[in-house]
Amino acid sequence: MTEEKRSLNFIEQIIEEDLANGLETSKLRFRFPPEPNGYLHIGHAASICLNFGLGLKYNAPVNLRFDDTNPTKEEQEYVDAIKKDIQWLGFKWDKELYSSDYFMQLYNWAIKMIKDGKAYVDSQTSEEVARQKGTPTQPGTDSPFRDRTVEENLDLFTKMKNGEFEEGEHILRAKIDMAHTNMLMRDPIMYRILKKSHHRTGSEWNIYPMYDWTHGESDYIEQISHSLCTLEFKHHRELYNWFLDQVYDPEKLRPKQREFARRNISYTVMSKRKLLQLVEEGYVNGWDDPRMPTISGLRRRGYTPGSIVDFSETAGIAKRDNVTDIALLEFHVRQELNKIAPRVMAVLDPVKVVITNYPEDQEEILIAENNPEDENAGSREVPFSRELYIEREDFREQANKKFFRLKLDKEVRLKNAYIIKANSVVKDEEGKILEIHCTYDKDSKSGSGTEASMRKVKGTIHWVSIKHAVKAEVRLYDRLFTDEAPDSYKDVDFKDFINPDSLKINKNTFVEPSLKTAKTGDRFQFQRLGYFNIDDDSTVENLVFNRTVPLRDSWAKMQKKG
Ligand code: ATP
Ligand code: MG
Repeated sequence: MTEEKRSLNFIEQIIEEDLANGLETSKLRFRFPPEPNGYLHIGHAASICLNFGLGLKYNAPVNLRFDDTNPTKEEQEYVDAIKKDIQWLGFKWDKELYSSDYFMQLYNWAIKMIKDGKAYVDSQTSEEVARQKGTPTQPGTDSPFRDRTVEENLDLFTKMKNGEFEEGEHILRAKIDMAHTNMLMRDPIMYRILKKSHHRTGSEWNIYPMYDWTHGESDYIEQISHSLCTLEFKHHRELYNWFLDQVYDPEKLRPKQREFARRNISYTVMSKRKLLQLVEEGYVNGWDDPRMPTISGLRRRGYTPGSIVDFSETAGIAKRDNVTDIALLEFHVRQELNKIAPRVMAVLDPVKVVITNYPEDQEEILIAENNPEDENAGSREVPFSRELYIEREDFREQANKKFFRLKLDKEVRLKNAYIIKANSVVKDEEGKILEIHCTYDKDSKSGSGTEASMRKVKGTIHWVSIKHAVKAEVRLYDRLFTDEAPDSYKDVDFKDFINPDSLKINKNTFVEPSLKTAKTGDRFQFQRLGYFNIDDDSTVENLVFNRTVPLRDSWAKMQKKG
């Protein structure tokens, strides 16, 4: 979508207002802050497109900051995958940074807060701490350790850092107000003891900072002007600001947290925790399974980066939670593939056609246009011979007038080739059709300019020449879940809605010989069937295709119906 076409989203409006109020454009700086505890999904793409989009719009740097404060769940594998996905989407970050780089700075600030009487070591069990939290309508209770002296706090905190205590023995808490109306302000935890090795800092630290304490201070260190996060952090904004107040130097830029609605998409789940369950419990074959809503899954499925960016743009940035129809994503990939994918012929459910008046030893090369949507796409050679495969469902012995494909005694055009007429069938004992015997009109070759070639017949079907065809495997995907919102039920597990037919493997597909040299990542339109790409599992001996999307455009239809 072009800039002129759409109005500013509400985040852009906030930025415009700040600029109008004197913020210099050169001070604008954004960040995308993934936690490296899983692969990026299409929801993250919303945040990526928002932040990097703002960077492009205002010519401002965008940092990639790994929010790596929880060593129990984070791994280098995820860091690498996240970087690869952002690059694939076509975005460039300014600096690659890690919250863990700030552990020492955060620690020093925590010491300062202890000295200022703004933080204390609590030595209760986590159950006791939870009990004292109160409720939204009832104030919490002060911890008996709340009034420890600065010296005692410093001593304990240093020992926590040095690993002299076990996990759970002590925590460091901010000293705010146990009766605060915002429960997040009731002396939130800043540090917990975790004797876990970190993917970057190794065993250097025995204490790890909490998200709320880390995030705003990291924004401040990086001088991020607008820290954009999802709505569930709205109540955290007050705490974000309180933590900033403890370290803020008025000479510096003060980051501003603003919230936007999460991207939810129908018929899938979008939380790394749940996606990890699908991977670990074997419901899918890894994070990049083409049924996954991950960026890597969509890439493997044949989605283009452009279609994901366009989708994010069309779906937009909202203030309130909402669900975007998966059909909108499919619409965008179809739209792009229509422009770029070469057309080829493949038969997924073959039945044999014998053209009885075509000489047995003859074959010929026909010329087929690669893409009518792209005049520079050129053409290719498609061999034709006496025996062909067509789709089983493209033939009926008898059918009503609405069936425009092949039926007995009627004609149909073979795409890029001749008009044929079905005369008889050969069946096995169970009545299954083994062969359809046809005759062809030898003057009707497509594009030959003869009168017969211009003869109008109602239907056109695709085909492959049996002796030239290449056998291939095709993987057909359906939605991974049967319910529109599988994780919206309180007492049903989202995995109960797994679609048992989300993957169909077809090893009896025949494709035209031009596909012999197709490589991983190549994308095609199988005419009349859909868009397909070469899967990572594909080899020269065993071509494997994924169906990215069928041709049918349910989104556009829905829009028309209104
Ligand atoms: P998940 O629940 O899937 O693990 P998360 O929010 O914990 O998501 P992070 O790695 O912390 O994942 O997210 C990085 C950034 O992406 C954050 O700014 C977060 O708000 C944003 N983000 C995550 N999920 C979505 C979503 N569904 N829609 C929009 N932005 C999202
Ligand atoms: Mg998270």
